[in-house]
Amino acid sequence: MDLKTLYRQVIMDHYKNPKNKGLKNTDPYHMVHLTNPSCGDDMRVEIIVDDGKVIDVRQDGKGCSICLSSASVMSELLIGKSVEEAKDLIEGFYSMVKGEELPDEDKLEEAIAYKGVRDFPARIKCATLAWKCVEKAIEEVETHE
Ligand code: ZN
Repeated sequence: MDLKTLYRQVIMDHYKNPKNKGLKNTDPYHMVHLTNPSCGDDMRVEIIVDDGKVIDVRQDGKGCSICLSSASVMSELLIGKSVEEAKDLIEGFYSMVKGEELPDEDKLEEAIAYKGVRDFPARIKCATLAWKCVEKAIEEVETHE
């Protein structure tokens, strides 16, 4: 498989028409900023968590198509999920891109498009950057509550 195959339709769609893009920079959003120096990706993710549920996810960043599209896919997947479900999905996504077998990978919905990243270890950090942001944001929100 070459890089072209990796850039599947779903990835290009989210790259061209990103969902939940643009930060609010207001309460009650909680923001986490992370970078991936090996590729130059720079990502900010904001979340609202209330009553154990992910109410909203916003994302904005600069970087490669894998990183930026993945942020869009992640935001769509996690909005409306419980914090526990969101954590499971994040873990599942990490396992999938690392090449581990995932019995319930259908739960990842469009994020399955990143399965091919397992063949490009250098791109794993691109695919997971926004997920690391949201994971850290959830962690920080929970610690503060
Ligand atoms: Zn990248």
